[in-house]
Amino acid sequence: MELKEMNRKLKNHPEPKKNATGMVENVMEQFNTAADHINLNPNIRKILAVTNNELIIHFPAKRDNGDVEIFTGYRVQHNNALGPYKGGLRYHDTVDIDAARALAMWMTWKTSLAGLPYGGAKGGIKINPKLYTQSELERITRRFTYALGENIGPEHDIPAPDVNTNAQTMAWIADTYMSTKSPSERSTYQHVVTGKPVGSGGLEGRDRATGYGVFLCIKLWMEEKNIDITGKRFIVQGFGNVGYWAALFMEKAGAVMVGVQDAFASIYTSTGIDVETLYGHIKANEGSVQNYPEANQIDKDDFFGLDCDIIIPAALGNQITQDNAPSIKAILIAEGANGPTNVEGEKILLNRGVAIIPDILCNSGGVITSYFEWLQNRNGELWKLEEVMEKLETKLGASFHNVLRAAEERNIDMRTAAYIIAIERIEKAYVQRGIFP
Ligand code: GLU
Repeated sequence: MELKEMNRKLKNHPEPKKNATGMVENVMEQFNTAADHINLNPNIRKILAVTNNELIIHFPAKRDNGDVEIFTGYRVQHNNALGPYKGGLRYHDTVDIDAARALAMWMTWKTSLAGLPYGGAKGGIKINPKLYTQSELERITRRFTYALGENIGPEHDIPAPDVNTNAQTMAWIADTYMSTKSPSERSTYQHVVTGKPVGSGGLEGRDRATGYGVFLCIKLWMEEKNIDITGKRFIVQGFGNVGYWAALFMEKAGAVMVGVQDAFASIYTSTGIDVETLYGHIKANEGSVQNYPEANQIDKDDFFGLDCDIIIPAALGNQITQDNAPSIKAILIAEGANGPTNVEGEKILLNRGVAIIPDILCNSGGVITSYFEWLQNRNGELWKLEEVMEKLETKLGASFHNVLRAAEERNIDMRTAAYIIAIERIEKAYVQRGIFP
C-alpha cells in the first residue's frame, strides 16, 4: 500500500471524492484545446499534462482547550521550467489533491503568460478557518510550514495568499521558515513567501493588486470595444480581497455595483450598492453580506442571471456552468477567481457572444506584484506604492494586449489565446534545454 494511502486509512480519513470539483478536467481541457491549436510538441505535452511533485501532509495542531486535532495540508508543484514554483495557499473545505493539482496548473500558465521567471504550484489546508480562533490558526499555519520544510524555499517554491489566507498568514509562514535557519542568514529568507504585511518585507499595494488587475482588464477591454465604463452595472461573487478591491476600483471609475453574492447570501438593488458601506456591514456582520439593509436578498440561483453588464466571479471554481450560463445577461465576465467558469459553461457563453477575460490573465495582478515583492526582498529594496501600481499597469497591460492580439489574429477566444502564449513560452524553454539526461 502506498504511504499516503496507508496514512489515510490509519487516520481514518475519508477517501477524497475523485475530481469532486471538476477543476482538473477543466484545466486539462483548456490546455488540450490550446495545445491542439499550436500542434504542441507531443513530448512537451506529456510533461505539462502531469504535475512534478505532490505532497500530502497530515499534521497535528493544538486547539485552545489543549485537544490535538489532525489536519491535512497539500502542496502540488506542477512545473518549474521557467523558474521556482509559485502560487498560493488556501484554507478551505474544498481543498483536496485534485483542487491543488488544477490550481497549480493554472499558476504555471499564469506566471508564464505574465512573463515572470516562475513555475506554478498551489496548496493549502482542508479546513474551515471560521471554526478556529486566531491563535489556533497561527499554530496550524506554523506547524504546516514546519511540516512543509524544505519543500518550500525562496528560490524553490514561494507560497502566497489565496482564499482565506492573508498577510498575517504569510507573516507566520515567513517567521516559522526563517526560525529554522541560522541567525546570521535568517533575514535573507524572507522572500520564502510573498503577500507579507508591509513592514515585514511585504510590498506596498500587494493587497489591492489582484482586484486592481481585474478592474484594469475590464477597463482595457471596454476601451478596445469603445464602451464607456461610466454607469455600467456589475455584480461580484465573493467579497474577499479580490472582490472588494475590484469593486472599489470599478466604482471609482463610475461603474455601479448592483449585486453581491457570498457563501451565505445574495443581494441586489438596481440603484447600486456603495462598496465601502457594504464592506463596513460585512465587517460588523461576521463576514457576510447577509441582511444588508440597503439591498434585497435574492435566491442564490438567480444571481448570475441578474440584469447587469459585467460579472466578476471572485470566489471559487466551477461557479458559472451549463446550469446558469444560458441565463446570463452580462456582456463580459472578468474572472477574478481561478477556474470560475467550467468548460461547458464557457461554450454556451461564447456561442452567445459573451466575452470572458480568463483567470490566468484577469487575476494575474496578484502574482505579478508577488514577483515585485520577491525582487524587493532579494535586492534589499523598498518600493513605493506609485511605483508598484505603475509597473503593474505596464506589465498587465502588455499581457492583456498580447492576449487580445493573439485572439484576433487566430480568431479564437481569449482563454485559448492566453494559453497559447503561456504554453509557447514553456515549450521554448524545453526545446532550448532538452530533456535530461
Ligand atoms: N493566489 C494568487 C493566485 O492565484 C496569488 C499567487 C501568488 O502571488 O503567488 O494567483
